[in-house]
Amino acid sequence: KLYNLVQDLKGNIRVYCRVRPFLPGEPTALSTVEHIDEGTITIRVPSKYGKEGHKPFMFNKVFGPSATQEEVFSDMQPLVRSVLDGYNVCIFAYGQTGSGKTFTMTGPKEMTEESLGVNYRALADLFLLSNQRKDTTSYQISVQMLEIYNEQIRNNSQNGINVPEASLMPVSSTDDVIQLMDLGQMNRAVSSTAMNDRSSRSHSCVTVHVQGRDLTSGTIIHGSMHLVDLAGSERVDKSEVTGDRLKEAQHINKSLSALGDVISSLSQKTSHVPYRNSKLTQLLQDSLGGSAKTLMFVHISPEADTLGEAISTLKFAERVG
Ligand code: ADP
Ligand code: MG
Repeated sequence: KLYNLVQDLKGNIRVYCRVRPFLPGEPTALSTVEHIDEGTITIRVPSKYGKEGHKPFMFNKVFGPSATQEEVFSDMQPLVRSVLDGYNVCIFAYGQTGSGKTFTMTGPKEMTEESLGVNYRALADLFLLSNQRKDTTSYQISVQMLEIYNEQIRNNSQNGINVPEASLMPVSSTDDVIQLMDLGQMNRAVSSTAMNDRSSRSHSCVTVHVQGRDLTSGTIIHGSMHLVDLAGSERVDKSEVTGDRLKEAQHINKSLSALGDVISSLSQKTSHVPYRNSKLTQLLQDSLGGSAKTLMFVHISPEADTLGEAISTLKFAERVG
């Protein structure tokens, strides 16, 4: 049976998949992934997971280990650009810790121009396009960063950066965007050393608000974009963790499955959408559903010993698609 995740390309919910390359030191003899093409990823399934064989999963798009950050962004560029036309957009990075979510959204620790992630590229592109339109539309763009940890929203208000109209002018290079984003990164780095890489156990959200005023008619439109690096989706063995770690794991589990429930009921067009079941879905309620556009970007590690997590990630993707 083919697991069909293909969406109408014009649909409001899209599901992408990215497989990261093996990292130095990882045994490359066996990979979770048998084969990748445009829209299909075929997973190697050993007998331990049922009948031995190969299992294909289909997506709107699959990016293999050699896909560049530029290729990934250029595929989502139309989605990002629609924010300036007044759309609400959510982009989620989903996957177990170590699968490449932060690489996709932010980039690696040692950043180069080529390795800049979606967050930087999306913002830089919005500034660029808003400048190109400045004879017809006046845009105001503001950026806010927040984190959801243990079902509590922490608004990094010192990082709630407002970009006044006047300062839009010089922001046509990524440098200014990098500076903006680094503020938030710094803040996260501090909290992650303090709390033993808490970043993988919290959802981190960059929100971009756009207001556009048509210079002729005076009409005002609003758009928004939420770029969400989700907490790691790995299942935690309840017999092994206790106390705070168990509580964290339960909060993560609850909010990721609430997100899955919301997106899957939107894609099935059911009348009741259960937004109230987690802080994340409450926060994003106005940007999920209706005319809003959602991209669920799931991440897979090629390491053979993470196959169980890869399968559970692909099953999550299958449910929301
Ligand atoms: P996550 O945020 O899901 O925990 P990371 O983004 O931190 O995972 O990725 C884990 C490691 O793999 C990091 O060292 C990262 O730089 C590297 N990595 C992830 N994706 C890629 C990729 N597409 N190309 C090269 N290195 C990657
Ligand atoms: Mg991460």
